Amino acid sequence: MRPLKPLKDYMLDPPDVIYPRCPVCGDECEKVYRLEKTAEIIGCDNCVLEYDANDIPECYPEKG
Ligand SMILES: [Zn+2]
Repeated sequence: MRPLKPLKDYMLDPPDVIYPRCPVCGDECEKVYRLEKTAEIIGCDNCVLEYDANDIPECYPEKG
C-alpha cells in the first residue's frame, strides 16, 4: 500500500482512473444499451430516455 499523498499533491497529480464513457454522447456513464440483434450501442443511462409504451404513438402503428 502506497503512503497517502498530501492533498495538494493529490490535486496536482490525480490518479489514472479511467471512467467508462458512452460512445454515443461521450458522457461518463455506468450503463450502456445495445440493440440485441446487432449489438449496436444506442446510448447510455444519460442519453437514453425510458417511456411508457402506452404514451408512444409509434408503438401503435395500426392506429396511424
Ligand atoms: Zn450516452
